[in-house]
Amino acid sequence: MHSLSVRFLALLLLVVALVVPPGAPASAAGDPAAFEKRILGRSVGGRPIVAYHLGQPDRPGVKKVVLFSTMHGNERDTRLALAGLVKGPTVAGLDLWVVPVYNPDGYAAGSRRNARGVDLNRNFSYGWKDLDGNYESGSGPASEPETKAAMTFLRRVDPDYVLSFHQPLYGVDIDTKTPSFARKVASTLRLPTQNLDCGGVCHGTMTGWFNRYFDGTALTVEYGTYPSRSDMEKNVPDRILRIFGAIRGDVSFGPVTP
Ligand SMILES: [Zn+2]
Repeated sequence: MHSLSVRFLALLLLVVALVVPPGAPASAAGDPAAFEKRILGRSVGGRPIVAYHLGQPDRPGVKKVVLFSTMHGNERDTRLALAGLVKGPTVAGLDLWVVPVYNPDGYAAGSRRNARGVDLNRNFSYGWKDLDGNYESGSGPASEPETKAAMTFLRRVDPDYVLSFHQPLYGVDIDTKTPSFARKVASTLRLPTQNLDCGGVCHGTMTGWFNRYFDGTALTVEYGTYPSRSDMEKNVPDRILRIFGAIRGDVSFGPVTP
């Protein structure tokens, strides 16, 4: 190529890099309800951990909510509900972040743990304990890049509510910071209430860490082993929004949680 055109191309690339900010609106066909797609970090295996931003963050009075799914890579069904929100229609009455696949290496391998064999829900820095086997907790608190990415993200967003979707224990944890909210989540999602105490004391969980250090409330939501796929895709997204008084539809007229 002529050196002048090479220089022109380089200049053009520079201009594009300067003009397009890192949090530019998402334009991919698969995520029309999202106005922003953000990579929170990379997994051990180098896969991106993708978050989608939906709703009306600039609207006064809306609640900030973060949804995580597939923190355990072999708990794959609830991601369909979160992906359903991203697919649209647009969300009104909420500032919503959605992370459909938080553990992309585990998801790719069909494994509970990340590519280093660590259970991410035992790796958070609050109440961390050296655990082995299925609940391998890592070499130390927040040793894993996935954990660090979530911690940085949650510190930045500082949400009012975090829902962490799992399987297969079938129930919403009421042994938590705000039991009344947990009961509301359970009834709206048509799940029973449960006491999810990790078989004694929970160590290094995301919800435990968030509930300890933030004003907001984080809650574990467990679906069963084989939830209905069509229920996940068609009904659960709307039920999730209903918890927060939000809807899908015309973003200029959505309700705001009282
Ligand atoms: Zn789980």
